[in-house]
This record gives sequence, C-alpha cells and structure tokens, in this order.
Amino acid sequence: MNIIDFHTHAFPDSIAARAIAALEAEGPCKALTDGTINGLLRSMDNAGICTSVIASIATKPAQFEPILAWSKKIRSDRIIPFASIHPDDPDATEHIRITAQEGIQGIKLHPYYQQFVLNDPRMFTIYESIISQNLILLCHTGFDLAFPHDRICDPEKIMDVLERFPALNLVTSHLGAWEDWDEVERLMFGKPIYMEISYSKGFIPDNRIAEILNGHPIDYILFGTDSPWMDQSEAARFVDQLMLDTERKTALLYRNARRLLGMTP
Ligand SMILES: [Zn+2]
Repeated sequence: MNIIDFHTHAFPDSIAARAIAALEAEGPCKALTDGTINGLLRSMDNAGICTSVIASIATKPAQFEPILAWSKKIRSDRIIPFASIHPDDPDATEHIRITAQEGIQGIKLHPYYQQFVLNDPRMFTIYESIISQNLILLCHTGFDLAFPHDRICDPEKIMDVLERFPALNLVTSHLGAWEDWDEVERLMFGKPIYMEISYSKGFIPDNRIAEILNGHPIDYILFGTDSPWMDQSEAARFVDQLMLDTERKTALLYRNARRLLGMTP
C-alpha cells in the first residue's frame, strides 16, 4: 500500500505515556496507539499506511530545539516529522531557516495550543519565513474539541492569510476547518487550498464528506487521520466506503502528498 497519512502525532518514548495521559485528561478523546513511534508504525502496518507525517506542537518557544532534535532522530522513509515554532519565539525566523537547512519539510502550528489568531499581524513574518524557506505549513484549522469555540482559525481567517500570502503552502486540517464546514463550503470549497480529512468522519454526514472531496480541486485533497486520536485502519476503510472514483481516491490517499513532499513517484 502507498497510503500517506498527512496528520499524525507521536512523542519521544520517555514522555509518550505522560503526554498521552495529559492529552486524554484535557478532552474527550482516547488514544488508539501508545503515543510512541513504534506504536504508530504498528498502527500504520495494520492499516496499510506506508508513510506518516508527524505533527509536533511547540507549546512554548523553548520547545523548538528538542522537537527539532527529536524530528531529526526519528525521520525515515516511513516517518516524515514536521517541526514547530512558537509564535512568541523571538528567533522564529532563524529557527525556520534552521528547520529547512536540516532537511525538515514542514512546520506545524496549532492556534489553540499556541494561543494565536491565524491572521494576527505578529504571524506575518513567520508566514514569510516559511514561504522563503520553501516549507509546508500544516496548521490546525477550525474549532477544537478540547477548547471553547473561539473563531481564531476559521475559514474567514484562512482566506485572509491566503490573500495576503498566496505563495504559502498551507495544509488546512480536518476537511478545511473542524466543525465549521458550512463556512468551509462558503469560503474555501472549490479553491486551490489543501485540506486533509482527519477527524471529519462522525462529525459531518458521510455523503457531505464525499461531496466536498468530489467537488474540491482534485490536486488539493489529502488523507490524514490525527492518529492516535483516530484509528488509522478505520480511516483507511472509511475512504473505501466513500466510493470516490479511482483517480480521486489515488490523489487523496497518496498522489497529492507525494507531490507536496517532493517524493519520487
Ligand atoms: Zn492533530
């Protein structure tokens, strides 16, 4: 199988158990792996997933270095780690440069865990640096199960950022914006904006997911699971149930991710 999962989480072995317990305590989600790289690889093997992008989140500026060091250690042909920058990091520009220089391909941001508003002007130099270093920005978008529903990264703000920074290689999460799919359809649908599908199944009717995936530009849909918070095998089976035509399914499951990640076909 060639499937690429564009949105997963894992933690260093020494803190995985603690991190999972803390995250489980914060929200209603139960983890479906033990949070380690080996746990993720086992889940990928069961699901027929060949490669996973791991999205780490720096919840304070000082976490840039340990996340980068760990990312360099765990990367392989099956694991593609994205680094993370905290918006308050005074050295954000330099850290984004180092990230690219170390061969890491993307940055993950999470407006709720990092307490920023997507189109706040203080983010602009970060977006400029991400563009100039030719990195991918994987950003949590839409509401978040574990936080109050504040509009800090909704489709309106996504569109504002993309109008200001059309060259930004932004991958939005959760089918454009979690639990804000009316706004996704109103503002983002049909436009050349990457969206991965994690955490949409069960929160929006299956036929609406299929409609969005069938109507959005074929080159801009990506498979993602948010593992360990969703089961990778179940997510892969769900794509089969959507009855997408072969070309669209291939684009979703791996072709677009391969192109975006610069993998040889
Ligand atoms: Zn996630």
